[in-house]
This record gives sequence, structure tokens and C-alpha cells, in this order.
Amino acid sequence: MTTTTVTPAAPAAVRQGTQIRLEHVTKDYGLAVPAVDDISLTIEPGEFMTLLGPSGSGKTTTLNLIAGFETLTSGTIELNGRDVGKLPPHKRDLGMLFQNYALFPHMTVAQNVAYPLRERRLPKDVIRQKVADVLELVQLTGRDDNHPSQLSGGQQQRVALARAIVFDPKALLLDEPLGALDRNLRGALQAEIRRIHREVGSTFVFVTHDQEEAMNLSDRIALFNTGRIEQIGTPEQLYRAPETLFTARFLGDSNVFELDGGATGSSVGWDGATWAVDADTVAAHPGVLTRAAVVVRPEDVEIVRTASKLPSGVNSVPAIVTDVEYMGSYRTAMLALGPSGVKGRARIDAFDSALTRGDDVVAWWRPQRQRVVAA
Ligand code: ADP
Ligand code: MG
Repeated sequence: MTTTTVTPAAPAAVRQGTQIRLEHVTKDYGLAVPAVDDISLTIEPGEFMTLLGPSGSGKTTTLNLIAGFETLTSGTIELNGRDVGKLPPHKRDLGMLFQNYALFPHMTVAQNVAYPLRERRLPKDVIRQKVADVLELVQLTGRDDNHPSQLSGGQQQRVALARAIVFDPKALLLDEPLGALDRNLRGALQAEIRRIHREVGSTFVFVTHDQEEAMNLSDRIALFNTGRIEQIGTPEQLYRAPETLFTARFLGDSNVFELDGGATGSSVGWDGATWAVDADTVAAHPGVLTRAAVVVRPEDVEIVRTASKLPSGVNSVPAIVTDVEYMGSYRTAMLALGPSGVKGRARIDAFDSALTRGDDVVAWWRPQRQRVVAA
């Protein structure tokens, strides 16, 4: 797991695009829990916002409510301050891109892309120019007269993307658009989507269940859990400062120490160990967490052979090395932590060949690098 530096969003003054504002949005299909359960979320003009979460957590329903394909049970949705809750989809003027490209097979690339412009009855020469411009944007210049069947899956998806943005929609909504593509192609198209977002500068709302994809693409991520938003923030905020165990587990690997009770004050106890909690963490939780866990990322865990080698002021726990995995540029020591042998991991140097399975070690980290989260 690597953290990625996101390109900061443009300053508000030069941003284009549309603000999308959801206030107390609920969609109830009459199941045990609402599909979308009282969500409030403001997506800023020009922002790349990703709705991330496991299957069934309400991402698609939320996107369909924004698009107008589903009706609200309650709550409001505004585009640039205008309530659109009762507008049909075509009057919301939003671009949509899905996993299955849904191109018209009997039309050429140019005809597919021109379709939304012909529906809007734009003059022929304007259509020709816009189609040429957008095909250049998605790097399909010269493929105008091809039919979809003559294109690869990735190229077809780029045609669908061109068709979704050619009419300058208020925002682009993308529902797992890369889900059907293989890994390499996905990576390439992620980079394309990022570039296109930068170039067109409009608001993108992107749905995925893939945390790496979300980390790569987004200005901010809204993490969904059973119809609710668990946490909203930049990829770094969610990775570095998860507020809950769900967030910590969903984004990247963690060492997780579930505490018997809550956490309050400047230390916590776990299985015979006492760990310092840094002042910022104490300040972040002014109240008492009744159920809490300590989480530490593998790259923040260091290993020493004996407790006498520990630096001062760090938190530590005895561990047994259960395996060493080779990850290319680094290795991961798999650990059994503490008396109860909780599974954990530490990132270690690729050239530190000394550690082997069965070694008794001490794992340590700095208090500022751990998070105390709601469990
Ligand atoms: P996600 O996109 O995160 O996988 P969805 O928004 O598709 O999740 O679904 C959220 C929940 O709503 C799921 O429990 C799903 O079964 C339910 N759901 C979605 N669409 C409908 C529908 N048309 N009728 C009944 N239940 C639905
Ligand atoms: Mg979905």
C-alpha cells in the first residue's frame, strides 16, 4: 500500500463546474436497512469525488439519485443551489458512464459521440467540431469511422467517455467505469481519466469498490458503509487519520489492537502492554470512546531483536515472525503480536535478510504514528 500525492484542486476562483449538494438523503426500498440512509455530502465545483465502499453499501443508489434514475425517499439534492429532486434525468444535464459501455453498435465512433449533440439539435458544423475536439481529448483521433466492434474494450470505454462529456454536462457521474477491464488497462485508463478531469475542470463523481483506484484518482473520498458515509476526506486523511476501524481496515493494511474497553487520557492498555497516546490523538477524542482500537500501518512498525535495543519514548509489543513475504522493492514480516498472537505485519528493508520465520522480536512504533479509532 502506497499513499499517493493528489493534485490539489484548483483554487475556488478558477474552478469550473457544478456544486452537488446532498442534504439528509435517504432511499428506502423497504429492506431491513435503507439503501441510502440519511447522507449529507457537498461535492465542490471541479472536484473529483469518489464514492468508495463494499458491494451493497449504497454507492450506485446515491449516484442514481443524483442522476435522477431513482426517486428520493426523503432529503434534498441541489445542483449549484437549485433543487433538482423532482427533475427527470435529461433535465439535470449530467454525463453518465457505466461499466458496460452501452455504445450503439450500428453507429460509428463519430455518430456515437455526436448522439447527445444531435439530441440537443446543435448545428452540424458545431457538432463536427465538438466531436473532433473530444475525440482528440480521449486520444481517438482518426477512429471516427470505426464501429464499436472494431475497437478494444479500453477504446470502447473511451468512446463512451467522449459521449458522456461532449455536451459539456454540469458534472460527470461514473459508476465503476473500469470494472470490466484488466489490471494494466485499468491503470492506463485511470491516468487518462485524471488527465481529462484536469483538462475539462468539471465535477466528477466516481463510484468504485477498489480502494487503490480511489486513492489514485480522488481529490476526496466518501467511504460508504451500509448506506451511510463512514468518513469523508482526502486519500491521505482517510489513510493517515482513519476515525473508525472500518475506515482503517478498508484502506490499506493495518495492525489492529482491539482494546478491551474504551480509550481516554494519555495511555491505553493492550494485553499487558501500556502504550502512550500522543497529545494530538487525545485532543482528537475529547470524549470517551466506549469501544476503541489502536491501529498502526505496517510501514510505521519497526523491528528490533531485543527490548534493550528499543529507542526511548516508543510503544512496543513482543512478536514472533511467522513469515517473510517478498514484495519486490521491500519485504513484509508477518507477525504474531503479543501474548494473544494477533496477526500483524511490518514493512522491512528488501536487503535485511537476517529476519526469518520463528524469530522472537520486538515490534515498535512512535505514538504519533498510531491511531486510536472507534471500534
Ligand atoms: P453498491 O453500488 O454500493 O454496491 P447499491 O446502491 O447498488 O450498492 O445497493 C445498496 C442496497 O440497496 C443493496 O442492499 C441493494 O440490494 C439494494 N438495492 C439497490 N437497488 C435496489 C432496488 N431497485 N430494489 C431493491 N433494493 C435495491
Ligand atoms: Mg454499485
